[in-house]
Amino acid sequence: MAITKKEPTELAKHVFEYAPAPESIDHVKIQPRYGLFIGGRMVEGHSKKRFPTINPATEGKLAEVVEADEVDVDRAVKAADKAFDAWARLGPTRRARYLFRISRLIQERSRELAVVETMDGGKPIKESRDVDIPLSAAHFFYYAGWADKLEWAFPNRKPRPIGVAGQVIPWNFPLLMLAWKIAPALAAGNTVVLKPAETTPLSAMVFAEICMQADLPPGVVNIVTGAGQTGSLVVSHPNVRKVAFTGSTEVGKLIARAIAGTGKRLTLELGGKAANIVFEDAPLDQAVEGIVNGIYFNQGHVCCAGSRLLVQESIAEPLLEKLKRRLSTLRLGDPLDKNTDIGAINSKAQLEKIQGLVESGIEEGAELYQPECVLPARGFWFPPSLFTNVSQSYRIAREEIFGPVLSVLTFRTPNEAVEKANNTPYGLSAGVWTDKGSRILWMAEHMRAGVVWANTFNRFDPTSPFGGYKESGFGREGGVHGLLPYLELG
Ligand code: NDP
Repeated sequence: MAITKKEPTELAKHVFEYAPAPESIDHVKIQPRYGLFIGGRMVEGHSKKRFPTINPATEGKLAEVVEADEVDVDRAVKAADKAFDAWARLGPTRRARYLFRISRLIQERSRELAVVETMDGGKPIKESRDVDIPLSAAHFFYYAGWADKLEWAFPNRKPRPIGVAGQVIPWNFPLLMLAWKIAPALAAGNTVVLKPAETTPLSAMVFAEICMQADLPPGVVNIVTGAGQTGSLVVSHPNVRKVAFTGSTEVGKLIARAIAGTGKRLTLELGGKAANIVFEDAPLDQAVEGIVNGIYFNQGHVCCAGSRLLVQESIAEPLLEKLKRRLSTLRLGDPLDKNTDIGAINSKAQLEKIQGLVESGIEEGAELYQPECVLPARGFWFPPSLFTNVSQSYRIAREEIFGPVLSVLTFRTPNEAVEKANNTPYGLSAGVWTDKGSRILWMAEHMRAGVVWANTFNRFDPTSPFGGYKESGFGREGGVHGLLPYLELG
């Protein structure tokens, strides 16, 4: 087919006409109201305040959850404290058995979890089904394997659990972030109190049911719902010995200040502004797929998103032409449709943030490209977008947009690429596209980024550590490194 002769939108209409393929929701039972998961069962909140969690694709209310208060958080931490000794002393193979069981139950309930995740958060079902849920199960499976091998993981040291871990997670990968936090903590013998994000509490509520199904001893996992204030109560509770947070750099700094001097252990996984760097010898079609995956996956609500495309000047024109054409084939709409590539923006607040930053890009002089795209009448939506003519000083090149918006910059030499890639307060991830292995290694060595992907992007595996430099935080999650924050090494 002579695709180069067609206008992008024409091409999209011609090639990609799909009948609707909605995922069934009959097998999912979302309760109208949820309590808190404390001491092994669902309990009423002391707080009588509740708030709705909505489907961002329809703005319809899905359920009501408790806004946990100080008394609720205290009950949860005390339940975790009470469970700690027995859990820490439990034979490690028995601890592993519980984690294997949880992993299996996530797999068994994966269709339900995928639908809940998509309805509550707005992400396309193909992503929650193929990425979020399988990776969550894999994380528990992987750390189950470590539970009885801690002494081999740290030779000549005596690893001991720390105590109660207070964990606060964001809304972009709700179940996966829960798994990243809870699996290593439990494998190492700690107990936890976790607060999911205000806009995406439902998969954590299903996870509470899974803990009960797995007969996990009461108090080993406790889940309190609420907003920022509840998170702040969790991290500042005096009996919490270890804090793990994923979210914005701004809140990460608040937490670091709040617990300074308390002796609590802290890991922070914060924002990013990753450079995805394409050299002139890269396979362009493959790179285009990597760029699309890097910034439009999960509507760009990804801390390690490749939000700055650095393209070598000599190939900027053909690459951008291919990229624009590819953008016009992305399908935006019902997240429950199996053909959808771009789902709903997670919340109204996030949509407004994206809109504000895009307006700033236009005002500062960048050129916006958006494919023709019909946005649904209800819900929160933003079309896949890219900016050219971007200067490094523009806000869209410096700040985390956390939406489907790519800023394109160019470079001439590898040194310039490194300078531009590192010209950010963040340092979470980066991508390099080139035919030369030696260049990949040289670039990886010179970039200040926790993860550097080569000729791919957004690849995750529980065995591989993940975390940032600079304002992207500190500490690693995943792999044997992910156990360290949850252990004292005697
Ligand atoms: P936040 O950092 O506010 O949210 C992350 C988690 O922290 C949520 O559970 C939140 O609760 C909780 N929280 C908020 N304030 C406090 C506090 N003072 N003490 C303890 N916990 C707290 O992110 P937002 O949801 O406000 O998103 C804002 C921006 O942050 C996004 O636009 C994006 O740029 C960035 N972000 C980055 C993420 C990453 O993975 N790096 C993830 C999410 C956001 P609640 O949900 O109720 O506010």
